[in-house]
Order: sequence, then C-alpha cells, then structure tokens
Amino acid sequence: MGTLKLENLHVALEDGTEIVKGVDLEVGLNEVHAIMGPNGSGKSTLSYAIMGHPAYEITEGRILLDGEDITELPANERAERGLFLAFQYPHAIPGVTVTSFLRSAINSIRKARNGGVDDPIAIPEFRKTLLGEMDRLKVSRELASRYLNDGFSGGEKKRVEILQMAMLKPRIAVLDETDSGLDIDALRVVASGVRELVSPQMGALVITHYKRILDHIEPDRVHVFVDGKIVKSGGPELADELEVHGYEEYEEAAVA
Ligand code: ADP
Ligand code: MG
Repeated sequence: MGTLKLENLHVALEDGTEIVKGVDLEVGLNEVHAIMGPNGSGKSTLSYAIMGHPAYEITEGRILLDGEDITELPANERAERGLFLAFQYPHAIPGVTVTSFLRSAINSIRKARNGGVDDPIAIPEFRKTLLGEMDRLKVSRELASRYLNDGFSGGEKKRVEILQMAMLKPRIAVLDETDSGLDIDALRVVASGVRELVSPQMGALVITHYKRILDHIEPDRVHVFVDGKIVKSGGPELADELEVHGYEEYEEAAVA
C-alpha cells in the first residue's frame, strides 16, 4: 500500500507516436526513486502521463495509486488522491499571492475529499501550518506575500514548489527537473526539500537528466531511462556510473 505503481505503461502523442514503451515501476512511501535519461528519451512524457495530461494518451498498461487504478482519472482527481506534480504550476499568476494560491489549492483538495462540499481550512490553522512549514523549509516570510512566480528566481520558484508540497502533503511527489536552467541554489532547494519531506507518509520520484541533483538527494533506487524504457535499475551507485560513462552504452543497446 501507499505506492505509485506503473504497469507496462505505454504513452503516445496525439499523432499516435509511441514515446513511452512499456514502463514498470513501483515507488513506495519513504522512498526516493530517480529516473535518469538523455534528452528526448521521453522522461517528461512519462511525467505528463502520470499527471493525467490530456495530450498524452496511455495506450497500454495502467497507473495505480495506493492500489487504485487511476489510469483514466483526470489530473485534478489524481491530485485529490495524493499525487503531486512539481511542474503543475510553472507560470506566473499576477494578482495571486503565494499565500492565497496555497490556501485555494488546499481548499480544493479538502472540498474533493469532503464529497464535493466546501470545507475551507480555518484561517488561524492555515496560518499556523504555513508559518511552521516556512520555518522548517527556510522559506522567507516575504516570499509568501508576493505574487506567485511573478519575477521569481529559479530558486524562489523551487522554494514555493517545495512549500506547496509540504502544505498539500501528497502521498507521492513527482518532480520533473528541467534539463537546463536550474542553478545550484535551486538544485539545493529541491534536494533538501525532498529529503525533508520524504517520510513514511510520502515517497518521491525525481526525473532528471543530470546527476547533480542526485548528489544532494541520495536516492534509494536509480532507473536508467532510454528510448521510452527503463533499461537498468540499481542503487545510488548507478548514478555515479552514469556520470562517468554516460548513456551511450545503453543508447547503443536500445538501437541494436
Ligand atoms: P525528455 O523529457 O526525456 O527530454 P520528452 O518526453 O520531452 O523527453 O520528449 C520525448 C520525445 O517526444 C521527443 O522527441 C519530443 O519531441 C516528443 N514530444 C514530447 N511531447 C511532445 C508534444 N506535445 N508534441 C510533439 N512532440 C512531443
Ligand atoms: Mg524533459
């Protein structure tokens, strides 16, 4: 129980091109799994499919969360069941502060869990939780009153993302780390946030091109992802091996 499970997952683009070609993976609570693969191997396609993005069609296989088949559920219902995707709100929302964004995100999940009837969190409780999490994750109070992602640095965006994760308390968090543009500050924020939040109540799947972020996270399992498939799984030492040898041997094997 308490796991994200992918069974023989195949994902195609709208034009029918198959990108993810049969992935089996199980991420448990209190575990960090890393998926590492070269550019264009289909990592983001995999994360979009896990999220329930309508442009990515699951053509075969299924996705289970805590034993429930969520393959056909829309994105919001996946979130209500405890799936969190870190790239879900990458855009600036001028006029909406970080605080009000977090409160409405929490309230929409509470509403869904309350049979569709509004059940807003009491303001004092929300404030107490928010301030507590901000202290724990070392997010400045100033950030909470700013407009979401409006002029935020990479590190600030990641801080808010991690704060959102802490507030929503997902079962499984999926972080699709962009292949470029994450500075060292942002990397550290994500890594320490993941370490801080992964617990017997939460597991994480970190998807990345570079090993850098894994130096700070120390994943339990590493999966090498090439041409839409997991070609090898192992412990954290597999990331070190990739750092030295790259993806070439796996890419050649995938083509052969
Ligand atoms: P990665 O995240 O590993 O770099 P992606 O999942 O982004 O890989 O992309 C895998 C392949 O699928 C690439 O060839 C990319 O061009 C293609 N692709 C992904 N999403 C789309 C899309 N929405 N429209 C067209 N092609 C796409
Ligand atoms: Mg990607």
